[in-house]
Amino acid sequence: MSEATLNETEPGKSTLENRIYRAVVKRTERLTEGMMRIVLGGPDLETFLSTGIGDEYIRLFLPERGESIPVYPHPEGEYWEYDADQVAGPMRTYTIRAVDPRAGEISVDFVVHPGGIAADWALGALPGSQVGFNTPNGLYALPVEATWQILLADATGLPAAARLLENAPAGLRTTAILEVSGPDHEQDLQLGADTQVRWMHGGNGNSPSRLAEVLRGLELPEGPGYIWVAGEARVTREARKYLRKELKLPVTHFKVVGYWTDKAEEWNERYEALGEDFKKWLEELWSTDTDPEIIQDEVADVFDANGL
Ligand SMILES: Cc1cc2nc3c(=O)[nH]c(=O)nc-3n(C[C@H](O)[C@H](O)[C@H](O)COP(=O)(O)OP(=O)(O)OC[C@H]3O[C@@H](n4cnc5c(N)ncnc54)[C@H](O)[C@@H]3O)c2cc1C
Repeated sequence: MSEATLNETEPGKSTLENRIYRAVVKRTERLTEGMMRIVLGGPDLETFLSTGIGDEYIRLFLPERGESIPVYPHPEGEYWEYDADQVAGPMRTYTIRAVDPRAGEISVDFVVHPGGIAADWALGALPGSQVGFNTPNGLYALPVEATWQILLADATGLPAAARLLENAPAGLRTTAILEVSGPDHEQDLQLGADTQVRWMHGGNGNSPSRLAEVLRGLELPEGPGYIWVAGEARVTREARKYLRKELKLPVTHFKVVGYWTDKAEEWNERYEALGEDFKKWLEELWSTDTDPEIIQDEVADVFDANGL
């Protein structure tokens, strides 16, 4: 599902050399009631290259449930492939929360929600556990003229928002609005002089998210700025529609990314029921060279019309 949500934004291409890293878990840390940190290292990570972009994400190649070793693909063109005798395992998208080049380590923070292969893997990970991942890519792109930025995220976007807050340049007025399930899901974040954080409680699959409504109610600061939103796909779709259609912000002044789909199994059923022609139409739409923002507008309207 993370594929579908990300494709709503853009496929995303990294400018770094295409690689598949084989990583081992160095240590784990329960950050809060709802979040688990996994620190990855191993020989491959000694030469790991980061994009340096705060919301950089990777595709994790995870072991099947009950297995301990993932099936590793090999890099092919801009993506990756499996050999004919390999059966691809589960793949999920995660943010690199922190990079420690001297230690050859990266950290990934997992929301530990029920029923997720990745979430369960993180809960059961032990030093020495193995996982693969690809070359990172980031989507956040602050315009040079921006004097302020607003970051809105639920728990899945919290790792990226936290890194963006740490990276926020001095003088850039930064506000983060973070929606987590409750007070015991809040984190102590490193904040610069010009940054502030507002915590909200709810959403995250437990109750309806208020992120889009809060965005709508914001009085935006004067001057050029940037708005970055990450969260549940229907919520981010609503947020994007507001920024693009109502505020008519130029596309260079916002980035809205669907990170996950609530009740993904039901979503999948509705999606499958639309049949092969619909899927083919969607695939063809994404493969055209039409402006991805226009494609996204069309996909959003069609998804809304079909209850997706
Ligand atoms: C660019 C990008 C960056 C991301 N970064 C992070 C990150 O740093 N940390 C992080 O935790 N997630 C992150 N995500 C979201 C993550 O990829 C999804 O939540 C993913 O579905 C989790 O996989 P899973 O195997 O645990 O659950 P799945 O097998 O995908 O889903 C199983 C069930 O759990 C539900 N579900 C999935 N995610 C959640 C959730 N967060 N809360 C409640 N229910 C859920 C589904 O609706 C489904 O019913 C990111 C996604 C993208 C696109």
